[in-house]
Amino acid sequence: MNYIQIAIDGPAGAGKSTIAKLIAEHLNYIYIDSGAMYRAITLKAINLGIDLEDEGKYEFVKDTEFRFLNGTLFMDGHDVSHDIRENDVSNNVSLVSSFLFVREELVSSQQILAKNHNVVMDGRDIGYKVLPDAKYKFYLTASIKKRAERRNIDNIERNIKSDLKIIEKEIERRDFLDSSRKYSPLKAADDAVIIDTSDLAIDQVVKLITDKIMEDEKNGF
Ligand code: C5P
Repeated sequence: MNYIQIAIDGPAGAGKSTIAKLIAEHLNYIYIDSGAMYRAITLKAINLGIDLEDEGKYEFVKDTEFRFLNGTLFMDGHDVSHDIRENDVSNNVSLVSSFLFVREELVSSQQILAKNHNVVMDGRDIGYKVLPDAKYKFYLTASIKKRAERRNIDNIERNIKSDLKIIEKEIERRDFLDSSRKYSPLKAADDAVIIDTSDLAIDQVVKLITDKIMEDEKNGF
């Protein structure tokens, strides 16, 4: 059986996770949030008290187990979905995700998780690195202002301390780090469809993408 993979990439706050989750629900596919895995490793590194800057201290990634249940991430058997959104994690995740060893381990876990399922996976390098053969690839982007506003609302809903101006700065910093890093920087796959979501509601983007996929699948493309 041929499984269908949908890759969704883009910068922080472009609406990727919300959109990818809704698409997965709509099509009854499995949703894999790759950013949540980098966040979870950052959380574990903080909890272990290691020197975050020392790439040699990340051996523990090898023994870390990930499972997604209805879009919720469990690391080593624990639901970490709330803790990985804390500011401490957000502020350090770009550093942790820049290490080659961490990336190699997580990319291989992501590829295993995506095997033998229809999946929607979102991240920064999914279309060109993790799932280069994905049948559908999208790159979502939006203005920094819009992305910061969305993150702010997201944080408030999640009960996480939030300040719009600080978020704007943090997103700018993360954009820079993610797109300028040496290994697997944030970028669109050459064959990705680019969608600017600045002036679109979440539902409109979901409809745009699911309509395209259902139409193509109906026509046997
Ligand atoms: O998607 P989210 O904003 O939660 O991702 C958190 C961070 O994880 C990103 O800023 C980036 O540093 C890292 N990441 C990555 N590659 C991915 C997904 C996320 O480097 N595929």
